[in-house]
Amino acid sequence: MRRSFVSVDKPVPESPSRVAVVTGAGRGIGAAVARRLAEDGFAVGLIDLDEAGAKAGADAITAAGGKAVGLAADISDAEEVDRVVAEVADTLGPPTVLVNNAGITRDNLLFKMSESDWDSVMGVHLRGAFLMSRAVQKHMTDQGWGRIVSLSSTSALGNRGQANYSTAKAGLQGFTKTLAVELGKFGVTANAIAPGFIATDMTAATAERLGMGFEDFKAAAAKEIPVRRVGAPEDIAHTVSFLVSDGAGFVSGQVIYVAGGPKA
Ligand code: NAP
Repeated sequence: MRRSFVSVDKPVPESPSRVAVVTGAGRGIGAAVARRLAEDGFAVGLIDLDEAGAKAGADAITAAGGKAVGLAADISDAEEVDRVVAEVADTLGPPTVLVNNAGITRDNLLFKMSESDWDSVMGVHLRGAFLMSRAVQKHMTDQGWGRIVSLSSTSALGNRGQANYSTAKAGLQGFTKTLAVELGKFGVTANAIAPGFIATDMTAATAERLGMGFEDFKAAAAKEIPVRRVGAPEDIAHTVSFLVSDGAGFVSGQVIYVAGGPKA
């Protein structure tokens, strides 16, 4: 039975569509989030630049008894976004959960950062989250229920070599708060998760850029983290699972730092 935490004038609708869209779901955190939402009973649309990764994730969910579809799209392209969101709605039903997870890094110190390093990071994180949220919100407001979770980062607090990325991740926090204000009356919450160090291809690439082995890089990072380990994609998936649950309907416009401690 669905548990509903309701306000008097805003009951949770009896049966909103349980369909989630996760961007950047071909690997890393997005893949773990897609798996977890499928375990939670959502049909999941996995969107990624890499079609093979998205389809492999969807096949694994289907093989485990869930419902999923894997689709290729560049989320910084408005036409592609509208096309895949329509395809998810046609195949699985209207999406009511969106996880804005796709991301890239183009790290460099400010004096060496190119305009294209700046524009591509803004394009995927900010324009991508904007386009996806705009495309999906119609389905959420029609259903009177929705959950938007966007991946920020501890880098939003400032990080050497990441003027572009930290700006985008801080921007996503403002975006989240505004969505929470605009969409709350339709039963839609918006929250951000700001992970610390999570072991994925993204952090492996950072280790490579710094000329360190990934194991040494993780061990060095763990020493600085209060819980003395680096994060796993499942740590973020667990937090997403909470934020999209019915019981989290009074949590909106928040940034949850999932970093093994209070700061980066
Ligand atoms: P990842 O392993 O690099 O995976 C990112 C995924 O996003 C890839 O599958 C990538 O596709 C996809 N993607 C990139 N640009 C895209 C676009 N334009 N359209 C569609 N998909 C696109 O990264 P991750 O570590 O899982 O990170 C996931 C999110 O968490 C990102 O927003 C990241 O900034 C954030 N985050 C990560 C950490 C960390 O420590 N790992 C910490 C804080 C925040 P391709 O495979 O084709 O490139």
